[in-house]
Amino acid sequence: MIDTILYNGTIITLDDHAPRVTAIAISMGRVVATGSEDDILHLATASTKKHNLNGKFVIPGLTDAHVHFEWISRSLSTVNLYEVSKEEVLQRTANFAAENPNREWITGWGWSQDLWTDQSFPTAADLDAIVGNRPTFFQAKSGHAGWANSAALRLAGITSDTPDPEGGTILKDGNGQPTGTLLETAMRLVANAIPEPTPDQLADMMHAAQNAMLATGLTGFHDFDNPSCMTGLQVLRERGDLAMRVVKQINRAWLPHALELGIRWGFGDDWIRYGALKLFADGALGPRTAYMFEPYVGEPDNYGMSLLDKEEMMEMVTTASAAGLPTSIHAIGDKAVHEVLDVFEVARKQEAQRGEKPTQRRHRIEHVQIIHPSDKHRLAELDVIASMQPIHGTSDWERSERYWGHERSQWAYNTRLQIDLGARVAFGSDAPVEPFRPFEGMYSAVARRQPNGTPSPEGWFPELKLTVDETLRGYTLGPAYAAGMEDRLGKLAPRFLADLIVIDRDPYTTHGEELLRTAIHATMVDGVFRYGGIE
Ligand SMILES: [Zn+2]
Repeated sequence: MIDTILYNGTIITLDDHAPRVTAIAISMGRVVATGSEDDILHLATASTKKHNLNGKFVIPGLTDAHVHFEWISRSLSTVNLYEVSKEEVLQRTANFAAENPNREWITGWGWSQDLWTDQSFPTAADLDAIVGNRPTFFQAKSGHAGWANSAALRLAGITSDTPDPEGGTILKDGNGQPTGTLLETAMRLVANAIPEPTPDQLADMMHAAQNAMLATGLTGFHDFDNPSCMTGLQVLRERGDLAMRVVKQINRAWLPHALELGIRWGFGDDWIRYGALKLFADGALGPRTAYMFEPYVGEPDNYGMSLLDKEEMMEMVTTASAAGLPTSIHAIGDKAVHEVLDVFEVARKQEAQRGEKPTQRRHRIEHVQIIHPSDKHRLAELDVIASMQPIHGTSDWERSERYWGHERSQWAYNTRLQIDLGARVAFGSDAPVEPFRPFEGMYSAVARRQPNGTPSPEGWFPELKLTVDETLRGYTLGPAYAAGMEDRLGKLAPRFLADLIVIDRDPYTTHGEELLRTAIHATMVDGVFRYGGIE
């Protein structure tokens, strides 16, 4: 029995047998058939819901292959004070307090008194007037100052008698009373008093974050946060509210526990499943800690930093692999990528000796932000997934040129190279480091410039642009493969999961910044509209 039919639109399926159709039939969360109105409409029964697309477009649901979901959820549940006046800070605080009456603590981030008319440090009294007795603590944009109200100071045990901690200052007024501003390590006195959210509170925050993600066309994500994230997700599911497909990676500290419990890759179901062990090989470009073969420009002694000894990495990767878990390793610098590839090479040999095919251990490198030319073929050869974030290329191009130099930058953020050499790619955002909105990532991949036209209208290394088709596959089929779900996720074909989005334009003929203006009319996961809808 067909429960849902969408018709009279353009359905881009990514199914090579029928790449563009005008109608699709869905039953029990799965695609039953795609084709023309003649093929599909006669399948309807009295109870089938028929939705007229009226010329709109449908593409498979998009998956973000690298997010920090708990971090996203928690940051969406704080007051955003970034780049606003003091009046606006207080207004937003009042709004947040009213909208979240059950939230015990009010937290926020991003204030900066330099932007205010009165540039002096704010006081507890400013906040007390708005929030009364609800403890409130806001971190400054600089990360070096905090602003607490009286209730927060009281809960942190800060009084006129409290001495300054080492490396910090509790600002005090003429009478020796704490003003509410805490500098450097003194911030911790309050930060440590803020309770961690309970699983139920976390699930509330996750519900809001999920709705925000569904509205951007995402239907799934791969998460890199800690087990508390898994707990929150399961509470969300127990409530019947989980509406996206989740792959949960296992961070290093929990490898022994996963092994003890006998958890293997893919444990779970089509909603929540365990993915790979997650390790860090190096730092990042911004702080110049990505581990490099050659030093940073202008810093002849700085090669960045290895965060994991190669032997230790080898031990963990091979142990995990023998126990049925692939590994997903953060590697940004070219030396880090090189070492990770060396480790995967050994793991692959051991796997081959055990008779395991590469498809049984889906190892991945997270970011691959720069690769040494002599290593360029190795991801494809070892069948290691390049989990990359196209938006990093357009937000980091200037840092890449400055710290790595122009010559090396041609090997940076190079999704083109990996696709051309035959590596599998899975795209994502690393949200909340970058926005999770997938059309921004798609735009970055195809335009390789920022919407304001920097660094040039042609784009940064324009020869490295991807096509829309390649990009779309990187947000659908790529993550589906990484999840081990390529036989049922990532395209709209018979027996595949009915995860799709309805949009207002054809991405294949949408150019440049127009892609960013794509409107999401509806997001369907498992055959149910989870965001928006159509007639
Ligand atoms: Zn990350």
